[in-house]
Amino acid sequence: MNLHEYQGKELLKSYGVAIQEGYVANTVEEAVEAYNKIEAESGTSVAVVKAQIHAGGRGKGGGVKLVKNGDQLKETAGEILGMMLKTPQTPGGMDGEGKLVSKILIAEDAYRPDFDACKEFYVSILMDRERKCNVIIYSTEGGMDIEAVAEETPHLVHKEYVDPTLGLQGFQTRKVAFNLGLSGKAFKEMTKFIAKLYAAFVGSDASLFEINPCLKSANDDIIAVDCKVTLDDNALFRHPDLAAKRDTSEEDPTEVEAKSYGLNYVNLDGNVGCMVNGAGLAMATMDIIKLSGGEPANFLDVGGTADAARVEQAFRIILKDPKVKAILINIFGGIVRCDRVAQGVVDAYRNMGNIQVPIIVRLQGTNADIAKTIIDESGLAVHSAILLKEAADIVSKVLAEA
Ligand code: GDP
Ligand code: MN
Repeated sequence: MNLHEYQGKELLKSYGVAIQEGYVANTVEEAVEAYNKIEAESGTSVAVVKAQIHAGGRGKGGGVKLVKNGDQLKETAGEILGMMLKTPQTPGGMDGEGKLVSKILIAEDAYRPDFDACKEFYVSILMDRERKCNVIIYSTEGGMDIEAVAEETPHLVHKEYVDPTLGLQGFQTRKVAFNLGLSGKAFKEMTKFIAKLYAAFVGSDASLFEINPCLKSANDDIIAVDCKVTLDDNALFRHPDLAAKRDTSEEDPTEVEAKSYGLNYVNLDGNVGCMVNGAGLAMATMDIIKLSGGEPANFLDVGGTADAARVEQAFRIILKDPKVKAILINIFGGIVRCDRVAQGVVDAYRNMGNIQVPIIVRLQGTNADIAKTIIDESGLAVHSAILLKEAADIVSKVLAEA
């Protein structure tokens, strides 16, 4: 689950990480109110307006703007609220349709009082599965495209691995501050910043923190100007306060619907929809689709107890994707009986009426033979298979005909 920047900053602040202070607003009136508070607290009329969407690169698309007075604030808030913001990370990139902005963050100008004396760093924390460690990735080249820095000047991207059983050690925070070229107060502030940031990462069961830019101000304070936070969905039950921050309007609507049925569904770019029980079999099925010349349109695990109703829900979810040219249903009847799944497929097919794409059903396990008979005798345009190879061949064939 991803957090908005303003929510991420609330989380960071609760761990004592210094942030660029601000208030979120849903309307121009709220923006004016927020601006007045910022003006009173910071003692300056300069503030920044930041579109709150689940995508980075907002600055490039005009979603981050500096304002110098109340009139500018009103105008800018009005422009950004309700705009379709295109960034390199919104669907389709800068040529796509963008994402609707329904919230903005009004924040103090973090680069005050001396913009030129500020320095932008990059700091992120994530998990390195191979090393079974957390890793702090950091660079002096913050603020811009870290991907380009990593590609063109990889020596400027540093990594500090943290053994989760030992935790972050003092020498490590000092190493980070040293490698960022800091000294004096800024050095000390950076060690504190990293320690608190790491505590927040572990404490919130996050899988990604990305602070870009992490700013050294003219006063040698270190603050998070931007933050991207991804939390581990499997640990959310431990954080009801964080779980409550979920903004489903930012998520793929089909994935949200699937989740409400208890289906594990991930939308992908391919043309063959698949419905499988068990994550391992789902992976194998995606491989088979690729081998037969297709690309999986989704990952969908209906779970071990796939009954007719669930099959129908899964069916409807897959068919919402217009890219789907064929559907491969691959169910192993262990806990669930194949004949029940087959009946579910047939019922769903009939209930839904106008299914245009070919469906290949491969059922193996308990009552697989009865299941095949149900499918074959249904009179529907559903291909049945028992062997995986057969199923793959049919997928190739229907794709060639599509
Ligand atoms: P992103 O484009 O989605 O990564 O959004 P950021 O929060 O990183 O903002 C983009 C850029 O806007 C930053 O790299 C800064 O250069 C600039 N920016 C953000 N906040 C401020 C601010 O308070 N003052 C000034 N002068 N620039 C800012
Ligand atoms: Mn940023």
